[in-house]
Amino acid sequence: MENEIRMIADCHNHSTQSPDGKNTVREMAQRAVELGIEHYTITDHLEINKFYDEEFLYEEPVRESSVLVPQVIREFEGKLDMHYGVELGQPLHDMKLTERMLDSYDYEFIIGSCHMVKGWDDFYYLDYQKTDPYYLLGLYFDEVLQMAEWGRFDVLGHLTYPLRYIQGDFGIKIDMSRYENIIEEIFRTIVKNGMGIEINSSGLRQKIGVTMPDEHYVSLYKKCGGEIITVGSDAHRASDLGKGIRESISLAKKCGFDKIYYYKNRKPVGVNID
Ligand SMILES: [Zn+2]
Ligand SMILES: [Zn+2]
Repeated sequence: MENEIRMIADCHNHSTQSPDGKNTVREMAQRAVELGIEHYTITDHLEINKFYDEEFLYEEPVRESSVLVPQVIREFEGKLDMHYGVELGQPLHDMKLTERMLDSYDYEFIIGSCHMVKGWDDFYYLDYQKTDPYYLLGLYFDEVLQMAEWGRFDVLGHLTYPLRYIQGDFGIKIDMSRYENIIEEIFRTIVKNGMGIEINSSGLRQKIGVTMPDEHYVSLYKKCGGEIITVGSDAHRASDLGKGIRESISLAKKCGFDKIYYYKNRKPVGVNID
């Protein structure tokens, strides 16, 4: 059944304009053409709290992307419907910088992500044997709720991201029921602010083995009045592009969504799943 599902979009992926990307923007776009992705959006990292880190200084690559991506979009005109997006990480950690960035660049699509909470490193680096995962998850959902209330982005990136490491890598089983209320509040805030969520399929290629968020939360989002949903592979190399997209669309359909969205000039555009 999943083979019948069209590759409607891949709205979350990275190139060498990100610190951890392996292929250039052109190579990613070329792969999108080969896969027949109907609407393709590149979303390189813009980690607000890491902006001045020596290991990757964001100022120049971010500025460079604003010239390069529109150029690649023009080069692929007629072959690929491509859009210029960004994955904005930890926007609340430096509001002045976040606002300077959003005022400086004409992003068509902004994913709001939380990879780490204030005072802590990326969930990727934390030791969940040492620090109570429930405490960290509490901080995570609080910060995501604050981001949703702030609202200057289009979709919420990979909700439940810490579970990739806590459940996936550390194998710690988490009773998620205690976060049900705050997650519902996050969804209601997202809906009220006219925003959306993404189904991030990277978890399907990793130990956690499910999308972020998974079926339970995609259904809950629907119950909270959610309509706008995007799909993204979160590929950091061309060979991962499009992976899990069909499964994600199929999941959205199962949860009652009949459209998948992509963004054009910050406006959601719905595409029928069938
Ligand atoms: Zn991310
Ligand atoms: Zn990403």
